[in-house]
Amino acid sequence: MRDVIVVGAGPAGSRYARQAASDGHDVLVFEQGEIGEPLACSGHVSTDVLEFVPPEDRDQLHQNEIHGARFHLGGPDSRAYPFYKDAVISHVIDRVELDKVLARAASEAGAEVRDEHTVTDVEEREDCIVVTVSGPDGVETHRARMVAGCDGPQSRVRDAVSLPDPAELLHGVLGFDADSDDGDFVDVHLTVPRFFAWRIPRGDAGVEYGLAVPPGEAAGERFETFTDSYGVKTDRRCSGLIPIGSPESVTSDRAFLLGDAAAQTKPFTGGGIRYGMTAADHAAREIDPADPATLADYERAWRRDLGREIRLGTWVRRGYSLPRPIQRVGLGLFAGEIGVHMDEPSSLFSRAQLRALLSR
Ligand SMILES: Cc1cc2nc3c(=O)[nH]c(=O)nc-3n(C[C@H](O)[C@H](O)[C@H](O)COP(=O)(O)OP(=O)(O)OC[C@H]3O[C@@H](n4cnc5c(N)ncnc54)[C@H](O)[C@@H]3O)c2cc1C
Repeated sequence: MRDVIVVGAGPAGSRYARQAASDGHDVLVFEQGEIGEPLACSGHVSTDVLEFVPPEDRDQLHQNEIHGARFHLGGPDSRAYPFYKDAVISHVIDRVELDKVLARAASEAGAEVRDEHTVTDVEEREDCIVVTVSGPDGVETHRARMVAGCDGPQSRVRDAVSLPDPAELLHGVLGFDADSDDGDFVDVHLTVPRFFAWRIPRGDAGVEYGLAVPPGEAAGERFETFTDSYGVKTDRRCSGLIPIGSPESVTSDRAFLLGDAAAQTKPFTGGGIRYGMTAADHAAREIDPADPATLADYERAWRRDLGREIRLGTWVRRGYSLPRPIQRVGLGLFAGEIGVHMDEPSSLFSRAQLRALLSR
């Protein structure tokens, strides 16, 4: 019997597998497809995400560095409200390569990673968990002390062990224009319901256009309107779901959820790479696969670390739906140099932010 079976080799699953294997646990990872594919993410991450990547692999992920964001209440020709730092705020990285690098690091730490294996069922028993998997050699069953559901927004593990769904699933759409752009500002347009549309310069990898909206808000049509406003035709279009609002519990008797499966995302950007890997580290530290009582320690630890940021992030997102005149005044007041951390809304109230405001 294995210690832990990990379902899904995205950032959260591979990070957990690497840490748990380094601690000496017997870890088996299943990934349904080719690792990193299909792409459904911008890979725009705060600088500290690179700390989760082995140092020798960091350079190969690099596409561009970002110093700030220009907010708009209309299209590309509307007034821009810039928010920026002197230092690099975030990186634009090769997102497919990120998954590959993290899965390789998990293997090197001793986890067994099997791609092209889809988990089709998970059954919790009193003394173990039984996982059914469909792979190139047919259907197999495996036993483990615990299962880690790292299988994204529509988690099969979550359903199988009857854990509640995230509060919301936004629909995100991305497309790419091949013209290189090494500009150091992203553009954020508050022109779609309850979220935003974006333009990200990706250096030689071109320019990404994207948006996310709640279900039923015609994401595809809105995306066309957005790219038309920039006068571009994008190719390599892809889409994905963004879970917002963690369920009350992400642990059951012998299962725990990580990353998008647990909606460990920033409500005001949809970003989940850093929160998912941070929660993975809490899981590896707190959970003893031989002792189901330690699942409660993981639940407490990740919420203590990320719960407040997620709650504050929900308030920041409400700003996207305020009446235009209030948005105009707010953006006008706060635009300029900032001292905030892009993953930590609590930094809006930090000394660094106060200093940045006072120095204008
Ligand atoms: C349009 C869009 C843009 C985004 N942009 C950003 C961004 O710029 N920055 C950021 O931080 N976040 C961004 N996100 C969010 C980010 O992609 C996720 O938060 C992150 O990928 C979550 O990692 P994860 O490991 O939890 O899940 P995933 O990356 O979704 O990985 C889950 C893995 O599980 C596998 N899987 C699923 N079911 C099974 C099964 N039954 N058996 C085996 N394997 C299975 C999947 O194939 C997948 O590889 C974006 C999301 C979208 C949709």
